[in-house]
Amino acid sequence: MLKNALRVGLLGWCCLMLSSTASLAQVDSSNGIKNFTVGQWTILTDLPIDQELESWPNLLDQAVASWCQKWSIDPKSAKSWNLTIHCIGDRALFQRAGLLEGVPAFEDGFQMADRVFLVDQPSTYYRRHLLLHELTHWIMYQAFGGGGSPWFMEGMAEVEGTHQLNNGVLTLAVIPNDPKEVPHWGRFKRLSDSITKNGVPKFKHIVFYGNDRQDRMDRYCWSWAGCVFLRNHPLYFPYLEKASAKPLDYSMRLSQQLESSLLDRWDWVERDWKLFVDEFDFGFQPKLNLLSMEQATQGLPSQTRIDGTMQVDTVQSWQLAKMLFKQGQRIQIDADGTYVVKVENQDYWESSAEGITYQYHRHLPMGKLIGGFVSTDIEKPLEVIPLGKQCQFTASTDGWLLLRINEPVGQRQDNSGQLSVRIRVGD
Ligand SMILES: [Zn+2]
Repeated sequence: MLKNALRVGLLGWCCLMLSSTASLAQVDSSNGIKNFTVGQWTILTDLPIDQELESWPNLLDQAVASWCQKWSIDPKSAKSWNLTIHCIGDRALFQRAGLLEGVPAFEDGFQMADRVFLVDQPSTYYRRHLLLHELTHWIMYQAFGGGGSPWFMEGMAEVEGTHQLNNGVLTLAVIPNDPKEVPHWGRFKRLSDSITKNGVPKFKHIVFYGNDRQDRMDRYCWSWAGCVFLRNHPLYFPYLEKASAKPLDYSMRLSQQLESSLLDRWDWVERDWKLFVDEFDFGFQPKLNLLSMEQATQGLPSQTRIDGTMQVDTVQSWQLAKMLFKQGQRIQIDADGTYVVKVENQDYWESSAEGITYQYHRHLPMGKLIGGFVSTDIEKPLEVIPLGKQCQFTASTDGWLLLRINEPVGQRQDNSGQLSVRIRVGD
């Protein structure tokens, strides 16, 4: 009884909320475009004003509060910035109403001063992503005078647009754990397709992206990855912070400043970038999975060690073998130990360095010990080598060897155990 009464009560409250906002909506009968204003937000749309659209003012209040806090924006000023959001089902209706006059052609979203435009999308999540993407451009324009160089502007909009909404509470700048959380978002798929087609782009290439429309979505995704990488990097974040200090504009100034401040260590940036890209996927946790090769290789003895043993943590990302290998050296790997790997159907399996053939990841058994060979030559891609219990291989160039077990980055946290790996350099 009490339960039912509560349910009726809640339903009644929801209806009240709906009708109170809906009553604010005005329909312009001459053009069929509805509009409603709540606080600083005015929404124009030809789509039905459903619960999702009605929730936007509240979500945007949350987004602005979050930006004010993390980017030191005065909340009072932010409240005074009014924005008109055009949420477009039928573009022709908006064109006929003169609402797109002077707006350059755009595919799915656009921000122009205090107006943003977005085209309806196949999923509610992805439409909200676009909304938050355009809102990021807008808040940066208002608070900092611009969004920075193209890669940073689009990358940050993608960072902030990638969100989570749980019981009405909005969290920005997340890295999704599962594709099911983000229907039609597809950023990791696009990155992986882009790698298959063109390889991993150099980080410097991303930083100097222009505004061309060709391959726009690929560039947005790489810009997003670039921002996640630098914003979370243990060594390089302060450089980004300095280069992106306000005021901002839309020129290449930010990129040039970043490049010149990192000039001496740019090769290290490119090496870390390759390792980051190899791991960047659903469930990626920057604080756990980002490595500074410059820091990790500091103090390595100049002469090559011949024989050494290291412990490989099965939870961790790439772990460096503390040796610098020379081109042509024969490297012998012997791995000992067992560890527990949790696989997709929630079963726990005991694995050795050979992995378990019950499940595969990237065409190799789940849990298998793999090596990542990072060349001193930054033109060379990361070389992933299946190792297992015993393996011999030849260093293709001078470089460093990193080890980890073969498992998706988001599934490694529930592993337990360690491997003892002996590394010897032969004749
Ligand atoms: Zn954008």
